[in-house]
Amino acid sequence: MARLIISADGPEKFDIWKKAFAEVAPDLSVLSWYASQTRLQPSDYVLVWSPEADHYPALATAKAILCTGAGVDHLLNAPGFPRHIPLVRMGGEQTGQLMADYVTWAAIALLRQARTWAIQQAEQRWACNTIARTTDATRIGVMGLGHLGAYVATHLARVGFRVSGWKRSPATLTGVKVYAGQEALPEFLETADILVNLLPSTPQTDGIISEEFLKKLPRGAGFINVGRGRHVVQTDLINALNAGILCGAVLDVVTPEPLPATSPLWTHPSIIITPHVASEASPLMQAQYVAEAIGQIERGEKPALLCDPQRGY
Ligand code: NDP
Repeated sequence: MARLIISADGPEKFDIWKKAFAEVAPDLSVLSWYASQTRLQPSDYVLVWSPEADHYPALATAKAILCTGAGVDHLLNAPGFPRHIPLVRMGGEQTGQLMADYVTWAAIALLRQARTWAIQQAEQRWACNTIARTTDATRIGVMGLGHLGAYVATHLARVGFRVSGWKRSPATLTGVKVYAGQEALPEFLETADILVNLLPSTPQTDGIISEEFLKKLPRGAGFINVGRGRHVVQTDLINALNAGILCGAVLDVVTPEPLPATSPLWTHPSIIITPHVASEASPLMQAQYVAEAIGQIERGEKPALLCDPQRGY
């Protein structure tokens, strides 16, 4: 029987995980990392989010590490993290569905300038801002067409948006015009009335969203960041909003997190902030995904979302 040691979310959340795994994978032996009798064996799997650095030596002896996050930049960038151990990122149907719902909400919020309604409501002020812009007349560009980006892009196309996507390598995706590589980036940006960032954080993508970059979008475009705060040069984003290069932004990820109370992002009239909540599947759905990935490794198969440490995602 495979053993899964859970360090994710600390000792206080272990019972929630144990209950979820008991439901979806009763054959899996589930132990707490924090129980005094737990000793990691080379055949063990470990579920982590952001383990302490003093866990790394033990993690270096695991069969595989599974992360409760889809982005694993915090692990790959941590000095001493055992990058040679297979690392599986979070995925699964519900993770994609939640992200697709969030981006659809954010895109329509930008189309209808929902931030203005929120400000007016806080001031108890009735002022009409009718806007005749519809999804079918709006072009959305999704940067990053991986597990989440592809899910989001195809969902937006079903909702009625005109959707394109940008990634590193060429691909085809139903209902989505795919642009690949640096050469295709200017054309991709020129055709995005709303830009969605779903890239992973890597040395190639950190800081990619600068004022120069945003100027390549149609003037007055909207921006949705669900990738990482590090992708964006924050002062450039604010300048672009103030200069009308962008009409608004919805930010689920920022730097640093939590966002300090003094950050100008909080009060900007064209920015909607959410606290990194776009897509976190329920413990049950995450447990199901983790159990399936462990089953694949046990059968000698390669899980689809196995991280490539060289590539950085
Ligand atoms: P994947 O690794 O599956 O996909 C990454 C995509 O980005 C791929 O299409 C890849 O291209 C593309 N890409 C990577 N580097 C480049 C580059 N230099 N130029 C162009 N394209 C590039 O990731 P996921 O879809 O699972 O997740 C994406 C990110 O979403 C995570 O890394 C995380 O930061 C963020 N996230 C945010 C959450 C939230 O709640 N806000 C929740 C979960 C994730 P190719 O396919 O050609 O390799």
